Amino acid sequence: MEFVNPEGLRLDGRRPMEMRQLRAEIGAVARADGSAVFEMGNTKVIAAVYGPREVQNKSQLSNDQALVRCEYTMANFSTGDRKRKPKGDRRSTEISLVIRQTMEACILTHLMPRSQIDIYVQVLQADGGTRSACINAATLALADAGIPMRDLVTSCSAGYLNSTPLLDLNYLEDSAGGPDVTVGFLPKLDKVTLLQMDAKLPVDIVENVMQLAIEGCKAIATYIREVLLENTKQLEYRRGL
Ligand code: UDP
Repeated sequence: MEFVNPEGLRLDGRRPMEMRQLRAEIGAVARADGSAVFEMGNTKVIAAVYGPREVQNKSQLSNDQALVRCEYTMANFSTGDRKRKPKGDRRSTEISLVIRQTMEACILTHLMPRSQIDIYVQVLQADGGTRSACINAATLALADAGIPMRDLVTSCSAGYLNSTPLLDLNYLEDSAGGPDVTVGFLPKLDKVTLLQMDAKLPVDIVENVMQLAIEGCKAIATYIREVLLENTKQLEYRRGL
């Protein structure tokens, strides 16, 4: 199948190095301490953060740091495809773990000993790159909850189809069977904290594809900073009234 046409455009009209449209909204779940909706094109996810709060399971309590927990789920209506179980499957368990580890690496857990932070992420609409969208939503929700972090971790995927590196794959591109990487990146510290690859990629190309995903992460970080700044301005404005 042709994923990049002779004019250099992808199936959804994007250029190879172009990301999908980003949209974010802070404070989508009123009861949560922090929450956000994050969209990358047709992929739409919601994140809710509770904490720091009392540790529920005392056997998991740590005197040196906060316990971070994460649950990734897909809403039943998030995909037209009903053949895979949306909850409790191995994929969700793996993604929950990956997101937890990624968020844990940027939260200053040592500042909140004997407490627990719960991150819930749910996919409302799935069109590729849900784990990246969830990491981006979780970052916004954690910032909204006022959880201290070393940096704003962001995530983006990139792949390689028709001998072309492609940024931010949609479902059709993701399911084409070509190699793809998902990167988690700390922009201020210039550090990659997550790297997942789901097919073999030649060594000379992996660097290119990974760099492309990093550029995507940087662009998302710029967007997230704008959203947070705008949100703070709104809060200040409302407080001033
Ligand atoms: N997907 C789906 N049903 C499922 C699991 C995945 O339709 O039960 C689709 C969904 O669009 C997802 C994509 O397959 O974004 C790729 O899934 P993958 O496991 O690679 O994770 P993701 O790219 O979402 O992080």
